[in-house]
Amino acid sequence: MLDGKVALVTGGSRGIGAATARALADAGADVAISYAAAEDKALAVVDDIKARGRRAAAHRADQADPEQVERLVMTVAEQFGRLDVLVNNAGVFGTARTDDAGADRAELDRMYAVNLGGVIAAIRAAAQVIEDDGRIITIGSNLAARTGHPGVADYAATKAAVVGYSRGAARDLAARGVTVNVVQSGSVATDMNPPDGPTSDAQRAANALGRYGRPEEIAAGVVFLAGPGASFITGAVIPIDGGYFA
Ligand code: NDP
Repeated sequence: MLDGKVALVTGGSRGIGAATARALADAGADVAISYAAAEDKALAVVDDIKARGRRAAAHRADQADPEQVERLVMTVAEQFGRLDVLVNNAGVFGTARTDDAGADRAELDRMYAVNLGGVIAAIRAAAQVIEDDGRIITIGSNLAARTGHPGVADYAATKAAVVGYSRGAARDLAARGVTVNVVQSGSVATDMNPPDGPTSDAQRAANALGRYGRPEEIAAGVVFLAGPGASFITGAVIPIDGGYFA
């Protein structure tokens, strides 16, 4: 389905990003990933992709730094000869109640920089090099739609903002057939959201299926959006969340 296509998955060393990178390779794409720190894990994902007979590369690039993100996108397009699919997956999660006077503002600013600034930088750079009929998919969060529990205002704001940005970009890039969509993930078992954490039972209870999702269940939606069958879907927000507050 994606034979001959080149995909870049930011934050592909672990969790949803690693599952997405593998699934895109299963669908036929060559895949580059980025990471922040976990080089060993990134290289293991690269090995997995190569074992599927695809080209693969990993690049360290801090999503909080727009220049590094731009360089990442340009390097991948140059290295692989093209870019067809950008998956904005890298993200961080932090909590702070709005009435917490001692909240770590620097930490919150970094979350905005990674979750929003990094997405904007990647989309702007990709817009320069992505092929006609390309695909841009951002991993948002169900918390952008309904917060559900206290302490997540800033995280929810970053994930709501990428919806607005993606809708705008969908308009800007439509003339070339490039689609821009958001997958709003629900609770998925990863390092970011371990299924045995303090709020895990509440998270399970909040969705209709009553369980955590697997990273592969988000990846499957991304692969669909990356494929030819999704050519008429743009500016969309697609929940994959087990029926969060359904
Ligand atoms: P993980 O914490 O398991 O993995 C995060 C990935 O992002 C890693 O590959 C990490 O790289 C990378 N990353 C983190 N910070 C940076 C940075 N500054 N620069 C570059 N890469 C970075 O997270 P998940 O797989 O759970 O989350 C993936 C996405 O899904 C995120 O955008 C998250 O907000 C979203 N999401 C997750 C949900 C969940 O329940 N898990 C729910 C809703 C949305 P490294 O390994 O090098 O640290």
